[in-house]
Amino acid sequence: MEPILFLDLQSEYRELKPEIDAAIQRVMDKSQFILGPEVEDFEREFADYCQARHAIGVNSGTSALHLALLALGIGPEDEVITVPFTFFATVAAIHYVGATPVLVDIDERTFNIDVNCIQAAITDKTKAILVVHLFGQPANMDAIQAIARQHKLAVIEDAAQSHGAEYKGQRVGAIGDIGCFSFYPTKNLGAPGEGGMVVTNNPEHARTIRMLRDWGQERKYHPTLRGYNYRLQGLQAAVLRVKLKKLEAWTQARRSNAALYDRLLRETEAALPITIADVRHVYHLYTIRHPERDRLQSELASEGVPTAVHYPLPIHLLPAYRDDRYKAGDFPVAEACSKSVLSLPVHAYLTSSQVERVSEAVCKLAGRTETCPR
Ligand SMILES: *Cc1c(COP(=O)(O)O)cnc(C)c1O
Repeated sequence: MEPILFLDLQSEYRELKPEIDAAIQRVMDKSQFILGPEVEDFEREFADYCQARHAIGVNSGTSALHLALLALGIGPEDEVITVPFTFFATVAAIHYVGATPVLVDIDERTFNIDVNCIQAAITDKTKAILVVHLFGQPANMDAIQAIARQHKLAVIEDAAQSHGAEYKGQRVGAIGDIGCFSFYPTKNLGAPGEGGMVVTNNPEHARTIRMLRDWGQERKYHPTLRGYNYRLQGLQAAVLRVKLKKLEAWTQARRSNAALYDRLLRETEAALPITIADVRHVYHLYTIRHPERDRLQSELASEGVPTAVHYPLPIHLLPAYRDDRYKAGDFPVAEACSKSVLSLPVHAYLTSSQVERVSEAVCKLAGRTETCPR
């Protein structure tokens, strides 16, 4: 029996090896390593994929978030609303520009921002809502956009985990003002190294971000803004172009693995991920909840089922991001999720018989209920 892997980057490479190797060779032959034609082509292709007008390649998802905030003119004295239940880069980027993150609890069913809690967090310093489409599921964008319009706030989408996810038929990233993607190797679209992308329909934002990622210069050695070295590399772009063509098939495979889990795990004690109406979830992670998460995780490990915890602590309880404004108990849903979440393998190379093996182990170890817990 093939061992079950939580991630399988080697299979991604193996399947596309001739094309990936040729793409790398192309870059080596031209030796155009920073920005250049591969990056430009990839930007166009990724913009199309996101149904966005502009896409600007950068060196990480974190840089994408940083530049999005800068392009919107957000800085010290400003507040940005976001969630405590995310990968901490979301909140770190707000600190990078000197602004204050204002946290809002999540909805336990979707792990995304609880739109009913946003109004109460708005002050006259609020400039933007930084929405995270966590685990591949779009947040409730209609409600968020309505609040943003009412209070004249910008909307930034952290789409680092949700390439190709859709909200009411629209791809995430270009629904709000600016969208940010990561191509960290483990993401749904992963580079052989670091990478990221900013997408937007706003030409001014696109121009500013294009300048800021490359030292604030449009003309070489004549910077007009104080920019950064946040450029995407040719090798990353060339490989990402090959993998982008495969992304739809990989997403379908993730979605059918998730659908199979939904069916096979219906009668366990574990709470299954719930999708809101009218979205296309891309299952970066398939995350269940269970009151005895740690026991379940270690027993699954001894049955050969690898799992992971995303994320063991909410942002306001992380030592590096502790803040006098927040204490344990302030975000009960995020805190409860941190204690109970467990991500099962859901990658595109997981076979249905492996999903069945994982499901059998979860059913045995998580306990069964008579009634559906949902
Ligand atoms: C991965 C990730 C990021 C950061 O992307 P990097 O490319 O690692 O800098 C930001 N936000 C979320 C939600 C992520 O999952």
